[in-house]
Amino acid sequence: MRKVNARKIQDAVARLAIEANLFLREDVLSALKRAYSKEKVSRAKKILKALVENAAIASSEKIPICQDTGMATVFLEVGQGVIIIGGDLNEAINKGVAEGYKKGFLRKSVVFDPLLRVNTKDNTPAVIHTKIVPGSKIKITVAPKGFGSENKSVANMFRPTDGADRIERFILEAVKKAGPDACPPYIIGVGIGGTLDKACLLAKEALLRRIDKRNPRRHIAKLESGLLKKINRLNIGPMGLGGKATCLGLNIEVYPTHIAGLPVCVSISCHATRSATRTL
Ligand code: SF4
Repeated sequence: MRKVNARKIQDAVARLAIEANLFLREDVLSALKRAYSKEKVSRAKKILKALVENAAIASSEKIPICQDTGMATVFLEVGQGVIIIGGDLNEAINKGVAEGYKKGFLRKSVVFDPLLRVNTKDNTPAVIHTKIVPGSKIKITVAPKGFGSENKSVANMFRPTDGADRIERFILEAVKKAGPDACPPYIIGVGIGGTLDKACLLAKEALLRRIDKRNPRRHIAKLESGLLKKINRLNIGPMGLGGKATCLGLNIEVYPTHIAGLPVCVSISCHATRSATRTL
């Protein structure tokens, strides 16, 4: 068994929380630049230019891309040949989030009780998803998500016979409803299948895939490309002020499901879609 110290995990999470909030993902930044060069509507072009400049300033001045530095979602892939020593895994992650948000001067946005709403003052706890995988490494991804976009995410249980057309309409409706509210141009993650909770997790995982990489299943890849085109015809545009760039990328993840159901979740994410990964 390979030993990994909990302190090492804490340090990695702290660094990743800062990195994700300061440096826009390369695939998202490239897509913003491409959208800028293609955009014809002058107001939309100006906004895209401002978003590219904003990302450059954040990275050079070491300040967050957006004031909403999000709730930290942490995805872990823990090799079954690893033994964690010197502390508790979840505690190490939360300590890392607290440290990163403090050191990086990132806004603390988490309230301890969803109804009493008292701020925990260190942005913990994180939402942690852990998978046990073959091997003896630990892959950590920190994905902070602002709630301007999280508030626009939706899920639904369809009838098994509803099919791709009905799902397409549901996704288009979700984007129309989000309109300008979740800071477009959007990145959209869709989860189809499993149970309702699995579909929501798949939608979040879909946001982690590079937006220039299509799903390996041909019919799903076709659905991704078709939906992206349809969304970009909605004329919501950057910041909702019109234009072609409503969505920079749409990724769908699927999972087997029950004969009697068809769960779907749409995770809407903004132009500041953030994540950073490290393998220990
Ligand atoms: S939706 Fe995104 S860009 Fe808009 S405020 Fe929230 S985190 Fe920032």
